[in-house]
Amino acid sequence: MRQQTVRPEFVEVIPERLEDGVLYICERYRTAAHNCFCGCGQEVVTPIGPADWSLRREGGAVTLHPSIGNWSFPCRSHYFIRRNKVVWARSMNRSEVERVRRRDQMDKAAYIEEVNRVKEEAFPGSNAQGEIARRPSAFMRLLRAFFWGQ
Ligand SMILES: [Zn+2]
Repeated sequence: MRQQTVRPEFVEVIPERLEDGVLYICERYRTAAHNCFCGCGQEVVTPIGPADWSLRREGGAVTLHPSIGNWSFPCRSHYFIRRNKVVWARSMNRSEVERVRRRDQMDKAAYIEEVNRVKEEAFPGSNAQGEIARRPSAFMRLLRAFFWGQ
């Protein structure tokens, strides 16, 4: 049966057996996992990070962005998790999925390129470790740029 609500559970490690309807969130390893909300029993793992999924907490409610498309499962479920609700989206056909996959890969490649560029700009031609020790303010600026895009 399709789930309509999500129960977030913050855990130290993702348990071996997942309970239906629960979104396990492991902040330490920046990962979330759940059984596909369609009820098919497939395990869905979503890494959390700037080039992966973002997790927002509002009180006890969690939002995962972007949507989750289980294209490699027979169910091909597609849904959003918004404020502890499962918002069902339509399934996509093969060419639509390919388009999304390509965009994801490009986003990720662009992100990595951007991080490397910022690093190179902040610490031109040098070994970053050594520079960090000598220039804490530049490093803090870099950190801010990483995490808040400022
Ligand atoms: Zn499923």
